[in-house]
Amino acid sequence: MTIDLGAYLEAVPVSVAERVGGAREALIVSHENPDADTLGAALGLARIVEFNGGRATTVCADPVPPLYAFLAGIEAERMDPDPATAYDLLVVVDCGTLDRVGAVGRRHAALFERLPRVIIDHHLSNPGSAGPSADWIDPDSAATCEMVTLLAVRLGVPLGAADGALAAALMAGIVMDTSTFAHPNVTPRTLTIAAALVEAGAPLAEISRLLYRTKPDAQLRLFGRVLERLEGSDRGRVVWSSLFDADLLATGTSPADSEGIIDLLSQAEAAEVTVIFKEGSGETRISVRTKPGGVDATVLTGAFGGGGHARAAGATILLPLEEAREAVLAVARRLALAVAR
Ligand code: 5GP
Ligand code: MN
Repeated sequence: MTIDLGAYLEAVPVSVAERVGGAREALIVSHENPDADTLGAALGLARIVEFNGGRATTVCADPVPPLYAFLAGIEAERMDPDPATAYDLLVVVDCGTLDRVGAVGRRHAALFERLPRVIIDHHLSNPGSAGPSADWIDPDSAATCEMVTLLAVRLGVPLGAADGALAAALMAGIVMDTSTFAHPNVTPRTLTIAAALVEAGAPLAEISRLLYRTKPDAQLRLFGRVLERLEGSDRGRVVWSSLFDADLLATGTSPADSEGIIDLLSQAEAAEVTVIFKEGSGETRISVRTKPGGVDATVLTGAFGGGGHARAAGATILLPLEEAREAVLAVARRLALAVAR
């Protein structure tokens, strides 16, 4: 190994290293509507626990979208903990708040409450938690997988462990949350950690192609419908579109296929704030993207009970789409017009 991560290892809290390093039966939970960062971090942690002789169960409240089926070990992902296993640690990854784990946390509230806990997350909006928790929250990390890579090295786990599955899972999360090193969240540390993962065998180009440049034809047709519906106000400073159940029906796609549309919409030249409104049953999901140096996306989503990062955030609003749109756009326009360039 020629890439040396030694300078970054002090960032790993001792309490987190001790709990993960000592876990015999870890329950590792991702956020609902999972992406490659939360899934990759959970898979990476599972490989770390196993390397140390423990066992791990990875859990997510929602089924894993086909986009992430290439992740090694994802076939073992469960929607509930294994009732036959006596867990000794709960690890929550990439969740800005504990309730981001979704329905699985409500179904197993007593278990989640009782277990010693480790939280590993990079959301600025994470308030941390009280109680039996060892928290590691680092908003300067581009991805939770960036942090888990440091944890692996800190625990002496070779990044090439598990036949390459560890490095590949962690790289997937970094590629996901940086849009392949294109977002302003990328730091020298991100790139150094990624270099170490590539050195350990992570197939960077293949992961980037699978996550960002490969789509079923039906999904491209769905994108077409939503792009066609693009609207804007305030000389293009606010741009939005909407995705209805009818679009999914007409194209034969599922809600997970809407992943990525926001990143096309947010290419709108003058847009300070871009929003996609996704119709749900009695609720509306929003995804928000904003320009560097402009609106803080979490201010907009925070006004509706959501969270995320300054440039990329989301929320679920308990209103039908048209009403949610009116409410969100009123705030979005006010925030966008306050930006001085
Ligand atoms: P996306 O728009 O890609 O779904 O989400 C962008 C970012 O916002 C992600 O980091 C995601 O974790 C966060 N995010 C999305 N939806 C919610 C939400 O409902 N609540 C919170 N707290 N964060 C969210
Ligand atoms: Mn993340």
